[in-house]
Amino acid sequence: PDEAVAACLAGCRRALEAGWAILQRGGAAVDAVEAAIVVLEEDPTFDAGFGSHLNRDGRVELDAIIMDGATLNAGAVACVERVRNPIRLARKVMESCEHMMLVGAGAEQFAAAAGLPLCQPEELICEREKKAWAKCVQGDHLSEFHFSPQHGTVGAVARDVQGHIVAGTSTGGTCCKLPGRVGDSPLIGCGCYADIEAGGVSCTGWGEAIMKVVLAKSAADDLRSGRNAQEAADAAVQLLARRANGAGGLILLDRNGHPGFAFNTPHMAYGYVAPDGSIVTAV
Ligand code: ASP
Repeated sequence: PDEAVAACLAGCRRALEAGWAILQRGGAAVDAVEAAIVVLEEDPTFDAGFGSHLNRDGRVELDAIIMDGATLNAGAVACVERVRNPIRLARKVMESCEHMMLVGAGAEQFAAAAGLPLCQPEELICEREKKAWAKCVQGDHLSEFHFSPQHGTVGAVARDVQGHIVAGTSTGGTCCKLPGRVGDSPLIGCGCYADIEAGGVSCTGWGEAIMKVVLAKSAADDLRSGRNAQEAADAAVQLLARRANGAGGLILLDRNGHPGFAFNTPHMAYGYVAPDGSIVTAV
């Protein structure tokens, strides 16, 4: 949203700084992606973690995924209400669970067993979203009640000195969604994909459309077939619009670490670290 551009740029910058600090000292892409997404989950500017949109029952339900492009292992969680940083839980699932995706109460049980602190569901709710929700339930759901109907899923992609590529995505989903609704974000190939033979991708936008075209995997396949990073990003958003009439965007890195980004919404906040180490952010 126009009124949030400065906050979005600042959030992207902080996330990039957190991730880059790890990569710069030779750290792993998985740590960089987790650190960057935690920054964004903690920032109420974004629709992830604290400050997410509320569902029709006035509760926050969070979804997240992380994927390792070297092994093709992924971990995903959906509909969690008591986990402040679902990207941390997604990583625990990826690294220490026999399954790839856990939802709801089972995911929260796994979080507790894995040593992640559980929070109260109310701790994820910010005043702005509470007010927006209160207006929505009085009548027809109207987007002007919200800070924005879509104030933004978050994602990160990192490539480390080993050439490993990891991608992650975290979201509160769409505002006033039905309880139990899961969008594209935590679904492998839809909201996120990573393969060191192609690159890493994280998507945002209208989940019901993104799922139809398996957007992240479509972009990764384009990278695999030799399209450059920017061409693959552009082609993916064109596909989303043409075949699913969808609005959204994505960020990606090709296997050599070149960034690409595209969106067909008025804005999408994004950023990357340039080869000289400087941080670039834009909407
Ligand atoms: N893709 C998310 C979802 O449908 C929402 C978003 O990216 O804003 O849950």
